[in-house]
Amino acid sequence: MTQALFRDDAYRVETEAVVLKSEPRGIALDRTVFYAQGGGQGGDRGMLLFDDGAAIAILNTVYDSDRATILHVPAEGAALPPPGARVIARIEWDLRYKRMRAHTALHLLSVVAPYPVTGGSVGDAEGRLDFDSGEAVLDKAEVERRLNELIALDKAVSQRWIADAELEANPSLIKTMSVKPPMGTGRVRLIAIEGLDLQPCGGTHVARTGEIGPASVTGIEKKGKINRRVRIALGAA
Ligand SMILES: [Zn+2]
Repeated sequence: MTQALFRDDAYRVETEAVVLKSEPRGIALDRTVFYAQGGGQGGDRGMLLFDDGAAIAILNTVYDSDRATILHVPAEGAALPPPGARVIARIEWDLRYKRMRAHTALHLLSVVAPYPVTGGSVGDAEGRLDFDSGEAVLDKAEVERRLNELIALDKAVSQRWIADAELEANPSLIKTMSVKPPMGTGRVRLIAIEGLDLQPCGGTHVARTGEIGPASVTGIEKKGKINRRVRIALGAA
């Protein structure tokens, strides 16, 4: 299995690591800063750098079938490193930071629109959430105004872990109906935005909401009788 360093420090750009196994579909390391695709957020891109000067471009990051080993997907035809090789794993930070800002903005969007979330996607400085908003009317300008208000509060974003049993006893913590938080390991990661939001999440977030910067609501679409899709986009960092 791979130690997922991005869970404790989303700002860490690189780490030393050792190759566990090496296949065209992916290179597994004992530890990594590369976020593995999941929860509506894409896998990281970046580079693996070797002592002999060799470098392998990584195009995506995914979980292996055991959901515990993280595979760094190399460019097609890349020369694969042998198991045991030492490596520096470095993510494409600009891309990751855009996703961290967008992801945190979506947490705030779920505060502005306090309805059950049925789906979502984190893009590069943009994203969307689908809400089961019932008969409620979501006004684009109003959602945008309140979202920017919350961002400007510059609240701290932090994480803590709770036991599965504690989460089961507090089902209201789960906002997303389609994406169940990863349970079964005995504990679940909660993301708190100081005084505003608390929900289980495995993604990468910025440390303060102010880092998100100005956001615009680029669309609110009807996706069925009671479902609304809200799209947002962020400015430059
Ligand atoms: Zn999150």
